[in-house]
Amino acid sequence: MKRRQFLQHSALALAISPYISLTGCSRSLRADYVIVGSGPAGIAIADRLALAGKQVLVLEGGGRESTPALQTMHAVEPGQWGLQYDYSRATLRQLGGTSALWQSHSPRPHDIELLSASQRGVGEDWPISPEQLRPWLAQAEAWLRIRPAHPADNPTLPRNPFIDSSTALRSLLDEQGYKHHQAAAYGMVNKDDIDALRLLSHGEIDRVAALRTISVQPYTVVRRVLMDGRRARALECADQHGNALLVEGETIILCGGGIQTPRLLWNSGENGIGNHSDWLGAGFMDHPGIHLYGHREKPLLPEGIEHSRVHVFDMLYDPRHRGVVGTLLNIGLRPAKDGGEFTVVEALFEQAPDHGNRVVRGTARDALGDPLAKLDLRLGDADKAGITLGHQLQRQLAEQVGPVTRPSPFRVSSHHLTGATRMASDPAHGVVDADLRVWGTDNLYIASSSVFPTGLTVPPTLILTALAQRLAAHLAT
Ligand SMILES: Cc1cc2nc3c(=O)[nH]c(=O)nc-3n(C[C@H](O)[C@H](O)[C@H](O)COP(=O)(O)OP(=O)(O)OC[C@H]3O[C@@H](n4cnc5c(N)ncnc54)[C@H](O)[C@@H]3O)c2cc1C
Repeated sequence: MKRRQFLQHSALALAISPYISLTGCSRSLRADYVIVGSGPAGIAIADRLALAGKQVLVLEGGGRESTPALQTMHAVEPGQWGLQYDYSRATLRQLGGTSALWQSHSPRPHDIELLSASQRGVGEDWPISPEQLRPWLAQAEAWLRIRPAHPADNPTLPRNPFIDSSTALRSLLDEQGYKHHQAAAYGMVNKDDIDALRLLSHGEIDRVAALRTISVQPYTVVRRVLMDGRRARALECADQHGNALLVEGETIILCGGGIQTPRLLWNSGENGIGNHSDWLGAGFMDHPGIHLYGHREKPLLPEGIEHSRVHVFDMLYDPRHRGVVGTLLNIGLRPAKDGGEFTVVEALFEQAPDHGNRVVRGTARDALGDPLAKLDLRLGDADKAGITLGHQLQRQLAEQVGPVTRPSPFRVSSHHLTGATRMASDPAHGVVDADLRVWGTDNLYIASSSVFPTGLTVPPTLILTALAQRLAAHLAT
């Protein structure tokens, strides 16, 4: 996209944006807390800080409308192994970020997933314990308006007839030698299949932007973080007309998502920021998956059930293969017009952290002339072994649920972008510390799934929002 075209799109969309109160046309802005990105992470932090009376400025590269021109700012250049997926589709440059696309499927992780090295032989243990994370998960569920997926956390869950009654499912899993770490059920009851918060379309951005101490600034692209020793001094930005804008903050929090955040750090210095131990961008993980679709004549759902979909999930680790990562199985049932049911068994495979899988600085440039992200990504041996085992189980399970009529092709991405600014208790092993502060800096923080040191079996949004709220509480005290 040409620079002029990008700027025209930005200016036009700004003109029709009804609610943003711009903080003036001055070439520099200042706030106590400056947040980059208005997705779930950024808005959760802004909301909490504003409620604590803090002065917050949110800088967002997109606006109310997402346009192809704006999306090109998220283009990702293929790295040394090529790319099987167009990563510009994995995130949205828009107010509300990628929450406009997410599907609200975000169960809690099992404890063992966070104790990854000590209990599974994979990657590293998280520097935050399951006990420390748990209360924030509950708060994030409330804020995102997603219903806790495990019956122990949510007694109002619809009982799932399949998991309750299917001894075949149980014995199948047991025969395979798989260990259940969690088996639960939850319904997605909304007619749109969305039972969670979409920040822009549900008005959450408007609510937060109306808080007394918040200003949301759309069409403001953050191009570089400017450092002064250990302090992040300011952000070098381009406003909606492409003019330079300097934004200063006492505390700067990067919430640009799993690829744009490491990209911004790479573009902020010759060797990037936070790259003291060569981990910036490294350890990137996605969430490969396969769907098996089928149809059964005799329904499993009880007659008259109102829920259009009921999911069951089991997180499985094969104890015979130390180091083999987890599979999340997700069974969906939907009434068909012929009195039977459509079935789907989805498997999501955890990817292991690997230093060679990395977001790096690209050679191609965006409309403002800044390097795009380049992605080196391939499946490792542990990933392939986990996928083979998990898929075998998925196939057998799907055949128990109903004849499989249509398998989907293997997909390398589920848009769950983790690991590229990983959290570590030792600066030699990561980019941020357990408080999400970039190692070696005093006031630069990251809230994103990019801080996950392991990929996890479950999707990321609940956990990244929990971490964001924990960070905001830490900063507000
Ligand atoms: C189709 C799809 C389905 C999904 N389904 C699920 C699901 O079922 N469950 C689940 O848990 N997750 C799901 N996800 C993932 C989920 O959407 C993300 O985990 C979540 O939105 C990440 O939140 P975030 O705030 O970290 O980043 P984002 O939501 O990506 O927001 C980042 C924001 O930062 C802005 N930004 C980035 N860089 C800059 C910059 N330099 N300057 C200014 N602004 C910048 C972007 O424009 C964007 O608005 C799905 C994603 C997709 C694409």
